[in-house]
Amino acid sequence: MCQANYAAKVNSLPDDSTLELATRLGVSAHVARVASTRQLSTSIAQVVLEADPALAGVPGNDIMVRVRDAAGKFIRRRYSVRAVDPDASTLTLWVTTDHDGPGCSWARHAQPGDLVDVVGPRGKIPLNLEADWHVFIGDASGLGAFYRMAESIEAPGRAIFIVEIDHDDDALTASFDEGIGVTGIFVDRQGRAKNDPAGLLSGLAAFEFPPDEGHAYLFGEFSTIRALRGALLDRGLDDERISSKAFWRAGRTNAEHGEPDKSEN
Ligand SMILES: Cc1cc2nc3c(=O)[nH]c(=O)nc-3n(C[C@H](O)[C@H](O)[C@H](O)COP(=O)(O)OP(=O)(O)OC[C@H]3O[C@@H](n4cnc5c(N)ncnc54)[C@H](O)[C@@H]3O)c2cc1C
Repeated sequence: MCQANYAAKVNSLPDDSTLELATRLGVSAHVARVASTRQLSTSIAQVVLEADPALAGVPGNDIMVRVRDAAGKFIRRRYSVRAVDPDASTLTLWVTTDHDGPGCSWARHAQPGDLVDVVGPRGKIPLNLEADWHVFIGDASGLGAFYRMAESIEAPGRAIFIVEIDHDDDALTASFDEGIGVTGIFVDRQGRAKNDPAGLLSGLAAFEFPPDEGHAYLFGEFSTIRALRGALLDRGLDDERISSKAFWRAGRTNAEHGEPDKSEN
């Protein structure tokens, strides 16, 4: 029913390159329509897309959005799905907008009715259903994924958020079911470099691991995520209980397919 509903709303076909990409990845390609946009805070804009809800996959998944770079060339950017409404056939994204880049520019200027090619679902980091507690660590770019994942935790699970922010109003919150223990630690960056892990490392140091089984999810800046993974291993968390994904890299634009530069220098 949802699919028929969606098909009735958007009749355009994605670009051939989008269809080819989706075929290669074994996922779907669609043309989504921007339903609404809203600046939620200094650094985060919400973009709601009318799109096939199947694109949302599971909590932790993302979609690839086709945007234009400054030269007018089409490239892709990946955005985690913050929320999905199967009845309305909408996907909600939280996009960071406090820097200059093609993805940021798309989110800032998107207007209701705009059409955009999307590919999804993407992503390999779902919630670990075996874990008793889940710690989500990163920056504002991870907040949408963190909250969607945490909203899928079943009682009596625990969610702990350690998130570095640049502005007080970026400390966006979410509501969770009763029976879920929630702890939020927002760390003020205080002007430190974007790839300086000191703030999140001190936030992590202040968090005492509960005695039962936990899982850590790290989403954000490349070097910071790497340092956090090391700190968690040093604290004795097993490698398989740490899921990390670099979303962007300080001082470098993401590649045309949306991935940050992962080179050593
Ligand atoms: C799997 C995956 C999921 C992602 N999910 C989300 C998401 O839900 N929300 C989200 O906002 N982003 C998310 N990202 C990151 C997103 O895809 C883009 O990389 C990001 O929006 C920057 O793209 P851009 O085109 O605006 O800037 P780029 O062209 O990539 O970069 C331009 C400049 O801006 C800097 N920059 C990029 N991002 C930031 C930032 N967040 N803060 C400060 N400076 C930055 C870069 O270092 C560079 O100097 C995800 C990335 C991946 C790989």
